[in-house]
Formats: sequence, C-alpha cells, structure tokens
Amino acid sequence: MRAPADVRICRACGCWELHACESGCAWLSADRCSACPDAALRLPIRAAHLECATMELRSVITDDNGEDRLHVAVEFPSVVLVTRHDKAGRYVGPRLFVGDEEMLTGFAYAQAAELLNERRLAA
Ligand SMILES: [Zn+2]
Ligand SMILES: [Zn+2]
Repeated sequence: MRAPADVRICRACGCWELHACESGCAWLSADRCSACPDAALRLPIRAAHLECATMELRSVITDDNGEDRLHVAVEFPSVVLVTRHDKAGRYVGPRLFVGDEEMLTGFAYAQAAELLNERRLAA
C-alpha cells in the first residue's frame, strides 16, 4: 500500500502507519523506524516529518517586550522554531526558520520541507 504524500514515512525503508515493516516496527525518530536504525535516509523530507520532529529548547532571549524561545529540530538541525511570549506571558506566535530564512507563516512546514529538499539536492 503506497503511502499518501502527506503522511509520515520512514525515510530509509518507506514504511508508514498502515504498512509497518514485516517484523513490526515503531518510530525511532521523526523520519526513521526501528527496523532500520542504521540505513541511509533518502529524500524527500515531508512536512509530516517536520511536524513530528523533536524540538529541543536551545536558548531563551529576553528583551523589553517579552521573550523568544529558540527550539531546534533534533532530526533537522537547520530548522528553528521561535516562539514568542509578551511581557505578560501571553503567547504571541511561532516563527519558523530554515537556516536564516524565515518561512511565510509560523507553521509552514510544507514550505520548510521543500526548502530542505532543494538544499540537499543542490549540495
Ligand atoms: Zn518500519
Ligand atoms: Zn524503516
């Protein structure tokens, strides 16, 4: 059963939610299943992979108006999510970056995935 384009698949073997590996498997990370821990990952990266990525808090930057929390996607280190809270602690909204390039809207994972794929191909 071929995986729809918008679901999370293992980037090594292509298995997915409704079509797991024969021996059974679970997610090891956003884009790799437990049946192929050492196999090479392939393109493309999908928006669903970014949505499932482990976001690690790396730093908190405060200024007069509030604070920014910088999270880096463990599986995709060039993907950075910045969440902002104002002085009263209210959540203002996310900003998503690939490297230093900001995506159009906060949770534009499709756009970010496209950019990652382009850059990998160019490299
Ligand atoms: Zn699998
Ligand atoms: Zn796999």
